[in-house]
Amino acid sequence: MKKLVLFDVDGTLIDAGGCGRRALVDAMEALYGVKPEFEHSLISGRTDLDNFRIVYGLIKKGKKPSAADMKKMQNKYLELLPTEVHASVRCKKYYPVTGVEKFLAFLAKQPDIVLGLGTGNLEKGAQLKLEPSHLNNYFTVGGYGEDGHTREEMLQAAVKRAEKKYKTKFAPEQVYVIGDTHRDIVAAKNCGFHSAVITSGFGEAEKILRAAAELEMKDFKDITTFCVWLGIKTDPKGVKRGSYIMPASAIEHVFFSRTGIDEDRLKMLRIKKYEDLESGTIM
Ligand SMILES: [Mg+2]
Repeated sequence: MKKLVLFDVDGTLIDAGGCGRRALVDAMEALYGVKPEFEHSLISGRTDLDNFRIVYGLIKKGKKPSAADMKKMQNKYLELLPTEVHASVRCKKYYPVTGVEKFLAFLAKQPDIVLGLGTGNLEKGAQLKLEPSHLNNYFTVGGYGEDGHTREEMLQAAVKRAEKKYKTKFAPEQVYVIGDTHRDIVAAKNCGFHSAVITSGFGEAEKILRAAAELEMKDFKDITTFCVWLGIKTDPKGVKRGSYIMPASAIEHVFFSRTGIDEDRLKMLRIKKYEDLESGTIM
């Protein structure tokens, strides 16, 4: 049975030294004459289309961008991004996340693993950002920022492309999402996919904790634990509750301390919790 592993880009595969944010801010200034100011957490883990819409709203007092504005922002952003990527590399602010190269090289050798991207970056933006790391070569399919405003749409698009390319169906339990923010985890869960999170990225620790991924790891140094999570290695020491749960167990168990009962109520609770998580009212 094949498994599809989808990697987020920023904070999961690489730290690109803030090049995306700088290109976004400069694009807005070039197009509309205003330099937008915002916290990084506002945009991390969202899709690029969503970020363009949000930042446009910030400088235009809540106004929604037209389709033409969206296109203009995309084009300007992609035009400015290469310079900013190179600036990050030059200032030594660009680096792959610890252990990721070894992990990808290992996974690429596994016969039943398909590697893909699940990123909010525009496809071209993801390529540009990954170029200096040479990690692009590992990924044959992906879901990208163009696929929608939500991460769920983007992840589903990645699965569809993988199914087409590999002529095989990937059921939700065969899809594994690895990201670095609560938004990656929530989107994976909403799609019924497995979720793992890297805590050395751009996510906010408390929100990551609340979103309760199946697996939480600082980085990719410990390949064995990832392999146990992916179901391609057995756990040498037995399952360690609290650090991860096995793929076959109910995802919501950790989140609500209950499982297997009252599915409708569980669904309702999940929506409420996730809304709270996004608005920050429970923090
Ligand atoms: Mg990320």
